[in-house]
Amino acid sequence: MRRRELLLFGSVLLASAILAALAALSLRQWEASAQRHIRDQARDMATMAVEKIEMAVLKAEEEALARLQTAQRDRATLPQRMDAWKTETPMFEEVYLFDRGGVQRYPPSTAGPSPLDALRAEIPPPIWGRGGRRHVALGDRVALVAVLPGEPPLDSLLAVLVRSEPALRRDVLEKTLAGLEGQSVLAVLDRDNRAVYVPRPLDRTEHVLTVDFGETLPSWRLALYEPAGLSPRDAVRRQAWLFAAAFGLLLAVITLGLGATYRLVRRESEMIRLKSDFVANVSHDLKTPLALIRMFGETLEMNRVPDEATRREYYGVITRESERLSRLIDNVLDFSRIEEGRRRYVLAAGSIEPVIFEVMEAFRHPLTQLGFKVSVEVEPDLPEVDLDAEAMQQAVANLVDNAIKYSDARRHLTVTARRADDAVAVAVADEGIGIPPREQERIFDKFYRVGHSDTQGRRGSGVGLALVKHIVDAHGGRVGVESRVGEGSRFTIILPAAGSAPSVGAR
Ligand code: ADP
Repeated sequence: MRRRELLLFGSVLLASAILAALAALSLRQWEASAQRHIRDQARDMATMAVEKIEMAVLKAEEEALARLQTAQRDRATLPQRMDAWKTETPMFEEVYLFDRGGVQRYPPSTAGPSPLDALRAEIPPPIWGRGGRRHVALGDRVALVAVLPGEPPLDSLLAVLVRSEPALRRDVLEKTLAGLEGQSVLAVLDRDNRAVYVPRPLDRTEHVLTVDFGETLPSWRLALYEPAGLSPRDAVRRQAWLFAAAFGLLLAVITLGLGATYRLVRRESEMIRLKSDFVANVSHDLKTPLALIRMFGETLEMNRVPDEATRREYYGVITRESERLSRLIDNVLDFSRIEEGRRRYVLAAGSIEPVIFEVMEAFRHPLTQLGFKVSVEVEPDLPEVDLDAEAMQQAVANLVDNAIKYSDARRHLTVTARRADDAVAVAVADEGIGIPPREQERIFDKFYRVGHSDTQGRRGSGVGLALVKHIVDAHGGRVGVESRVGEGSRFTIILPAAGSAPSVGAR
């Protein structure tokens, strides 16, 4: 039975563990794919912004070149027209015009190296034939080089335009990036990660990714930032944690449930075993006094007893054993009434003293015969208690019976009743075998016997103390035990003085 249960619980635990491992694995996969998805989205967003900026730059260049084409048609007023062009086109801070011979036509040549010298290696001569335009690095800056075709008799000119960074920032970057809604921040950085344009402060944000611009803006990059702790990536991470925590909790609940079920099943099977022990014990308990009564009865009947004293002794045995039998049957009957919820108590204010003396009287014979040294101390003027005298007699009798049963060589029985605050404490103490500390709680459970059915070789059914507890509870009192193995036990019943506690009349 035990092995089967263990196997069952083991397999449920194993299944839960496998389930947990699978869940953890799929959670990780989900988290990774969600992170990938979010990263792809972020990259798409940054790439789109890059494309938008590049398009805006190209468009501005397109328009600037178109106006330049118009401006250069009148060569006579070229410098004035070019000056006007420059004012109209703030996107470019420098503009140079060269003819095919390399002569600078605008601005009027100044001393020092011509920008063309720096560019010559980058400008392939076929540009004059094919036309078109290209971006060429000019130190840290980017120059736009384009041929402005001249309709004869005008010759074609080579235009070199250098962008103005503040104008680019103002007219392109700001317009494209500042309008972006949402929590993300897109910033333009240069090659050394210095900020070129940052729409919002970057503190409390974290860098997500960087995308390079194309040849339009070769030395710049676009970086995406998200608020620390609030980014979609953090949300995914949080969700994963939440899920893991919820799953962990579920597993803990399953494990606890299993543990509780396991304990329940164990208790249940223990109860079944105790019940079957109980039946065996009661039958045995009934048989012994019956056998004695029968044996002594038959002996007397056959007139085999020589003298009057022995005869009286035999009658005594018969009386004692019948009393024991009655007690046993009362116990079992009462116990079954309690189990069915039919046991009723009729409480009335009364003194505990007669209860104690009745019990002691009932046990006088066996106590004397077994050689017990008995001491009974009842404090005078004890307060009255709400009492079902018969039931309380049964409780005290059970304690006395146990004290006799579980005593060895030291046969001392002390019964006391004294005042304890607003209550009366009745104690039954022996110097018998004692009860191990870890058993002291359980002995009040029904059917429970220390060491189980063969409690130290003594007869018993395991319901005596359960009955005592039930009776005392019904009186609104409590029962406890102090005991040391090998030294003895003291059972104490505390009953509230009449009127001091709510009375529990019927159960
Ligand atoms: P039982 O019929 O076995 O005596 P009880 O319910 O009266 O059943 O007692 C439960 C168990 O408590 C006993 O089996 C015994 O092990 C222990 N016990 C009860 N009273 C005493 C005592 N005075 N001294 C030692 N052990 C005791």
